[in-house]
Amino acid sequence: MDLASKVRLIKDFPKPGINFRDITTLLQDAGAFRQAVDELVELCKGLAVDVIACPEARGFVLGAPLAYAMGKGVVLLRKPGKLPGKTVCHSYELEYGSDALEVHEGAIQPGQKVLLVDDVLATGGTVAAAVELVKKSGGEVAGVAFLIELLGLDGREKLSGYPVVTLLQLE
Ligand code: IMP
Repeated sequence: MDLASKVRLIKDFPKPGINFRDITTLLQDAGAFRQAVDELVELCKGLAVDVIACPEARGFVLGAPLAYAMGKGVVLLRKPGKLPGKTVCHSYELEYGSDALEVHEGAIQPGQKVLLVDDVLATGGTVAAAVELVKKSGGEVAGVAFLIELLGLDGREKLSGYPVVTLLQLE
């Protein structure tokens, strides 16, 4: 199946000038969702991974099934104020605005090899914050995996030195 055809383009969302790639149309299609997860698992097979970490909210939708299929645990990276325990925090710039991510202290163990998973790589700000959280926790980034890489925003440049896996590359 052509997974790219399952991703819907919504112009001017969330504000004028932004071309938003809507993956809900892919996720709600059972065959497309399964294929996307299976292909990501296959692409990540060569990576030595102890645990998977993913940012809310769409990162959870891909990170959790990937972790299940790979037999790993899943660590949630959340927006400020959502996690109940003590957290490590990092702020970052987004394609449209700024935000911060948090992880529970101790969720990532020192020396653990962490695979980061998210739906879309745009400017790379979100994943760069996720990388910082892994480092602050004492973990190592084993790789980063995305369903979609938006070409032209140079997000990959923020990930030099790490294995990057992307299923769909879109203009
Ligand atoms: P970045 O931080 O600029 O790389 O943006 C990536 C983050 O923003 C990811 O967590 C995505 O969920 C979200 N994002 C940015 N652009 C899009 C898009 O076109 N479609 C879906 N999510 C997007």
